[in-house]
Parts: sequence; structure tokens; C-alpha cells
Amino acid sequence: MAMNALALIVALFAPAHPALKPSIQYTLRVDSTDLSGWTVEIRLRTVSDTFRLAVAAHPEYDDRYWRYVRNVAVEPSGTVTRVDSAVWHFSAPEGWVTVRYRVALPPPEPGLRAAWRPYLTPTGGLIGGPHAFMYLLGEEQMPVAVILELPRSWDVSTGLRDAFRAPDQGRLQRANQRIWGYAAVDAASLMDSPILVGQLRQWRFVEGGVPHRVVYWPLPNAASFDTTAFVSGIQAVVHQTIALFGGASYKAYTFLFQDGAYGALEHPSSVTLGAPSADLARDPHAALAETAHEFFHTWNLMTIRPVEYRDIDYRTQPPVTSLWFSEGLTMFYADLLMRRAGIQPSDATRTAHLERLMSRYVANPAYGRFSAEAVSRVAYNADPGSLGDYSASTHLQGELIGTMLDLTIRNNTDGQRSMDDVMRLLFNQRRAIDGHVIEQTVEAVCGCDVTPFFDAHVRGAAPLDFNRYLGLIGLTAHVTTGPAVFNGEPERDLRIWGWEPQGERGVRLVISDPSSAWGRAGLHSRDQLVALNGAAVATWPGLRAKLQSLHLGDTVRVQVRRPSGPFEATVVVAGFERPAVRIERLPNATVAQRRLAEAAIF
Ligand SMILES: [Zn+2]
Repeated sequence: MAMNALALIVALFAPAHPALKPSIQYTLRVDSTDLSGWTVEIRLRTVSDTFRLAVAAHPEYDDRYWRYVRNVAVEPSGTVTRVDSAVWHFSAPEGWVTVRYRVALPPPEPGLRAAWRPYLTPTGGLIGGPHAFMYLLGEEQMPVAVILELPRSWDVSTGLRDAFRAPDQGRLQRANQRIWGYAAVDAASLMDSPILVGQLRQWRFVEGGVPHRVVYWPLPNAASFDTTAFVSGIQAVVHQTIALFGGASYKAYTFLFQDGAYGALEHPSSVTLGAPSADLARDPHAALAETAHEFFHTWNLMTIRPVEYRDIDYRTQPPVTSLWFSEGLTMFYADLLMRRAGIQPSDATRTAHLERLMSRYVANPAYGRFSAEAVSRVAYNADPGSLGDYSASTHLQGELIGTMLDLTIRNNTDGQRSMDDVMRLLFNQRRAIDGHVIEQTVEAVCGCDVTPFFDAHVRGAAPLDFNRYLGLIGLTAHVTTGPAVFNGEPERDLRIWGWEPQGERGVRLVISDPSSAWGRAGLHSRDQLVALNGAAVATWPGLRAKLQSLHLGDTVRVQVRRPSGPFEATVVVAGFERPAVRIERLPNATVAQRRLAEAAIF
């Protein structure tokens, strides 16, 4: 059915759509003859002669796309003033006004692209979200309409609601463009719904009575892969996740997979994921662990939200203390739900998985020095080196804490309950979480006192005593220490890395363990690198290449600058010791303990 753009706008505002009463309408236009960016037009009705628009900051990945906004203008004639890096102030006569601007995309990153960042190619791209749309400050709750004007051969997939009742009405044509209409209930939903466009492959399935779409954007030279196995693996994980929570937290869900990209970002009703077709050709489940992780975040982060999370804001997200739970338990379930779905993750068994995590934990002194909450607070939006000469992963620390709590609950309830019940209770209560809410919920499920545990490991920095918890299910861990080995060769101590801070020239160092050769030589995180063996090094790839070329026994002079003045360290490249954890069954394990272990898939 053909309609013109005016009829589309009338349809969007028509009373037949009681859910849609937008007084903000966005039009995003992509012109196939100029893929350097897109133009946005915001039509809104004002009740004052001034208003402000802002670029939202994502709580995890603030890409600061206000840097790429160009040619901001308002009609009828008014003035535009940038009052903050991310905020524009407008003055224009009250009533209907139109704001126009262009987003000029930055040059592509070298290598694989980050799957959550926008891009445009002749066969499609990723648009929308805070990379495209500004929001009206003070009117964040207002529903919005979104019109996309895209090259005619392109398809669209997004978590935004289709603004038309029949799917074939969503395709209006004008010249070489096709016009699509969408709606969002508020500004936060608009920002949290990226839009994948172009030549897309799509599949559908229903789980929990809710429609799910799997969408794949292939590169023109994409490798072919087993799409039946790819989609059925995702469906199996979706089935297990909905079974765990007892229901979906959304009305429809879209997986937005992209070829030639890495990484992923969760949203309330969609997820962007990098899944190179060459990887999927080798293994159709290559992206499944990451998919399971991001999908689990739909509940554990997007719905069971940290108390510090805000709806929408242009300012950087303040530190969050419970990411050890939001990230760590999401890691825990990505592995567990794949096994429940009958698909083996990268570790052959759950025991091997736990051995690998524990080996990393005992090898890193940070976990005996920083509480889970302290590590959480620097997990997002903090510069590298925020823990001084230590590095820690809130994902790893949180997954191990979650595993030990799960064993505690299973033991205290004779296997009747587990962390599954904690997740379900938190989801049903829809409470914003912090350490105390999590602690109370664990206690409610377990019928036990976990305050000493939370004092020691969540609020405090005592390292986990694994055997105390493994013993509850008849297992024990042995730690052996030996020379670190990589690919059968003695491993060099290269426990140093660097980064290039924004607005600063050169590289700052990060020491990830003060007992490394680099830490012992007197180097510290945040030292500004000047030269290695007298040769200037100005970039992290430059430093990495020099580190990789070192041999055991080489001597390196590292010249740095720090507030107290210049410093030179001499480091002899050597091997180092690394602990390894092996888990065994206790010879005197009881039948009851063995049953608990089996239920936890150990
Ligand atoms: Zn995550």
C-alpha cells in the first residue's frame, strides 16, 4: 500500500493510535550517495521560547557522539548556543519548531568494528540511539515518533515499536528512499533501541509466548554458515533463560548480529552483537556465550537495575557498586544456561570452567586487596590504572562470589533452592539493587545468614576461601604453582600495558601486578612513557609491538615521566610463576553432597 510522507505523519498522530501522542517527531535520513553520516530533523511543539536538547551518555559505553554533531540549526529563525559539550540551548518562537543537524561519522576503527557503534556502508549499517538522536531536556517522559528515510533496498530491524498496524504499511516509497515509521514510549526507550538497517537476513521464533527475531547483517563477502544451528542455539538459550525467570521482561525481542564486528551491548528489547561470519562458519555457536550473556542482561541489569542507574542523562554515569552482581552473575548464567540447553561452552565441563576462573583469581593479588564493590565502582567509565598497580575484573570476581553463594544456598536448603530463586525473586520484585538488597534476597531464599559473607567479600576485600564452599558439595581445590607456559614455551613476563588518554599525547602505563618484573623495577600505573631503550614510543600499538618483540633475558630500559620528575627503570625480561587450580572430589563425600554437586552440574 502506497502512502506519502504527509499521510504517514497524519497516521502517526491519528487518535486511532491512543498509545502514540507524540509531540516530538524525529526524522533520520540516510542518503546512499553520501554515507559519511546522516541528517536528523526534530519537529517539536514548545510551550516556551527556549528549550534545550542533549546527547545522552550511555551508562557503560559513553561514545560521546556530541563530538560529531554538525550544523545545528533551528526554524523558524532563532538562536542556537552550545551550553555544555553535550547540551544545546535554543531560543525560537513558541509553537512548532524544527531543529536540524548532521552527524558526521568518525573514520572507521582499524580492524574489527565495535558492534554497538554506528556505521554506514552501501549495504547497510547501524543507526539510532544516542549516536543519532538528541533528547528534549525536561520532557524525557514524552512519547516520540521516529521516521526513517533510507535507501530503497534497505530493510530495518530495531527494538522500537512499529508505528503501523500491518507490516506492509511500514514501507512507504518516495524517489529512491523508502520511509519507515516507529514509536517509542519515552526518550530512554528511543536511546536504548539501536536500529540495524540494510540487506538483512531474518529469522523468527516464539518462546514464552513472546516473539523473538534474529537478524544478521552480512558483509558483501560473508562466509556461509549453518543458520539453522545458529538460530536454534539462540532459541535454546532463550528457552532456558525464560524458564529460569518464569517470564520475559519485554513484549518482543530482537537480536541484531553484525558481520565484521566484535563485542556487544544489551538493551531492554534488543541487543547489538558482533559475530564475524568466518567464526560462525567454523562454529555456528561461536557467538552463543556472548549472546547468552547479553540476553541475560535483559533481566539482570536492564530490569534488575542497579540503584545508581538513571533513566536518561547526558552526564557520565556515576560509579555503580553492584556490578559484581550485574556482570558476575550474568557470566555465571551464560555458562550455566548453555549447559542446561545442551550446548557446550568453551570449557569442556563446569568443573573445568570453575578451575579456569579460580586459577585467574588466585594468580591476581587484586582480589585480596579490593572488595567486590570497590572493583565494581571502577568497572565502567574509569580510566585504566584506577586501582593503582593492580587490575581486577568485576566479571570474574562476581562470577566466583555468585558461585560460592549458589553452593551456600543449595547446601542450606538441601538442594531445594539455588541462585535461580534469587534471580527470580529479584525479577518479580522489580527492585533497584545494591549490596544490601542482594544480601536480603539471598537470605530470604537461603534461610541463612550471609551478612558475614557480604562483609568479607562484597563490602570487604577478604579473598574467597574456596574450599569452605566446595566442601559443601564434596569437592576440594588444589593450587599448584609452576612456571607460566604459553603454547608449550616458557611465558615472558609482559604484565604491563599502556593506553592513550583522550586529550593527551603519548602513552600512559598500566602495571597490573606490583610483583611483576615491571612493578618490581619501580614502574607505576599512570607513568607517562617516554622511550624504550632510548627510542620514543608514542602509541599503545607501538608499545605492544615492542613488548611482543622481546625475548627472555633481554634487558629493557624504560624511561617515563611522572609528577615527581623523570624516572628510568631497567627490566630484565624473565619468566614468572603462575598458580593453577585443580578441583577433585573429596574421598569422604557423602551421597547428599554428590547430589548437590550434580544439581549444580559439577
Ligand atoms: Zn555484561
